[in-house]
Amino acid sequence: MKLSTGFWQTYKEVPADAEIPSHQLMVRAGLIHKMGSGLYSYLPFGYRSIRKVEQIIREELDKAGCHEILMSMVTPGELWQESGRWDAMGDQMLKVKDKGGRDLCLSPTNEEAVTDIFRKTIKSYKNLPVTLYQINTKFRDELRPRFGLMRGREFTMKDGYSFHIDKDSLDEVYDRIFKAYEAIFTRAGLEFSAVEADAGAMADSDQKTHEFQVIANTGEDEVIYCNETGYAANIEKAQTKRGKLQFDLSASEVTRVETPNMGTIESVCDFLKVPKEQSIKSLVYKSTIGDEEETVLVLLLGDDSLNEIKLNAFLKADNLRPATDSEMLSEGFTKGYIGPHKLSAKAKIIFDSAVNLDAYYCAGANEENAHYKGINPKRDVESFEVADLRLAMKGDLTLDEKGVVDIRRGIEVGHIFQLGDKYTKAMGTTVLDSNGKAMNPLMGCYGIGVTRVVAAAVEQHHDDKGIVWPMALAPYHVYFAEITKSAENKELAEKIYNEILEANIEVVFDDRKAGPGFKFKDADLLGLPLQLVFGERDFKKDGMLEIRIRKTGESLKVKPEDVVSKLQ
Ligand code: ATP
Ligand code: MG
Ligand code: MG
Ligand code: MG
Repeated sequence: MKLSTGFWQTYKEVPADAEIPSHQLMVRAGLIHKMGSGLYSYLPFGYRSIRKVEQIIREELDKAGCHEILMSMVTPGELWQESGRWDAMGDQMLKVKDKGGRDLCLSPTNEEAVTDIFRKTIKSYKNLPVTLYQINTKFRDELRPRFGLMRGREFTMKDGYSFHIDKDSLDEVYDRIFKAYEAIFTRAGLEFSAVEADAGAMADSDQKTHEFQVIANTGEDEVIYCNETGYAANIEKAQTKRGKLQFDLSASEVTRVETPNMGTIESVCDFLKVPKEQSIKSLVYKSTIGDEEETVLVLLLGDDSLNEIKLNAFLKADNLRPATDSEMLSEGFTKGYIGPHKLSAKAKIIFDSAVNLDAYYCAGANEENAHYKGINPKRDVESFEVADLRLAMKGDLTLDEKGVVDIRRGIEVGHIFQLGDKYTKAMGTTVLDSNGKAMNPLMGCYGIGVTRVVAAAVEQHHDDKGIVWPMALAPYHVYFAEITKSAENKELAEKIYNEILEANIEVVFDDRKAGPGFKFKDADLLGLPLQLVFGERDFKKDGMLEIRIRKTGESLKVKPEDVVSKLQ
């Protein structure tokens, strides 16, 4: 691809609505174009990365025996009425009426549609198990679309669905797809982990479900790990499994609330006018007393490593004042702030974003108003109550198996579920079993956020100059910048470019009329794994070009005739 005839524009400015690195970089590197809230168009480079993810998914799922189909993106309301989800889906589902007044929706997911295809096609156990999947556009009218492709309203999902005669078969295919997912995310170059998840509204709670979480500080999810025992679960699941953990979560009513924005530690320190060297440990809570809801926060400033915290919650809390000694804090903390009022005993507390709070009285804790207790290292406690797992840090919690619990943030890139017969039953779907008896097949469903995977890869792989693509998802592999003036060298550059093309190496040829600084900046921002530089001045000296590795900055000199073999 030649940039002189390409369609590509980069930007210096960070877009105002882009709060996390992947969103900023994907816009600045000209990968995506914002059409509206949560609506993005994919530009040439961005679209190539998306298709690379799709291709990896296809190869691994086809290998696992799945069949690709493509369902209509609009689904009729009757199907959702049948399953009972027309109303249950809530306002994330965008409903429309056609000219005849019939209900339609833009698919947020496709269990109903695939069950309809299945029931009209398969009649016998002999055709089971079968797994269908598609890579298609989804629409969810998210409460807070944000972070670019990370949480769009329109996005690309791979959704797969399996059908089974019995639980053994469902377990077998579930495990096979679990392994395929591990292969997919490994090939994509992501650091991820598969964690136990909560089935939520999707299925009965006795069915298996796992999330695939990409580890990143800006992730919206929290994951509990225990290295010793291998336990890994998302926070909702860990909390519902409270019996397993050595503390009591029933002490208070705790639910999650999302804050719209996440800020960097720097921006929060700026806002609070505190030195950046100090890390902030934060506890933000919303209290509801009667009909009144208020956001209250306490900041504990310590001196550990820095963490990201959610900025908006801070900005929303007015009237911060320094905390008094009696209100909080002891060793390790040098300063504290507290929000507008103390908690009453009746307050229902909704937590958000306690960041690695490694101890402490939660909120305005005195005997009469402490609705729950934190972990107080001063007392020699055998057991304690903690309102939220996020209040507990490394080493403070132990599982039954005596493991140490760690909490990290994650991006949910994939989610697999066992659905049981929920949909086949509701939609009157039967096949004949080996005794000739009609039964409702069991189902599994398997999602991957294709566009979110690309954003997660950028979130995990970037530096201060730009993106650092993992090879498998890079839109191209080589960025070839020619910085020549003479006709003779221009011709040589063109010749080298053609040789690289002939060798089937994915190459971008920066033959634009621009200086070296301009080209190198763009090359670093776009972040292709290899950079090839033909600098006329150096070439005159030693007759060599230079290959640079974007990730490490290492470089090596290469003769024109060796370029192709070195790049391979
Ligand atoms: P989240 O918890 O992030 O809202 P979800 O649990 O609602 O995701 P699923 O119904 O499990 O999502 O959908 C399967 C996959 O689709 C998710 O694991 C995620 O990777 C992706 N996905 C879901 N919502 C979005 C979105 N708004 N934008 C991009 N990808 C999404
Ligand atoms: Mg969701
Ligand atoms: Mg989720
Ligand atoms: Mg999910």
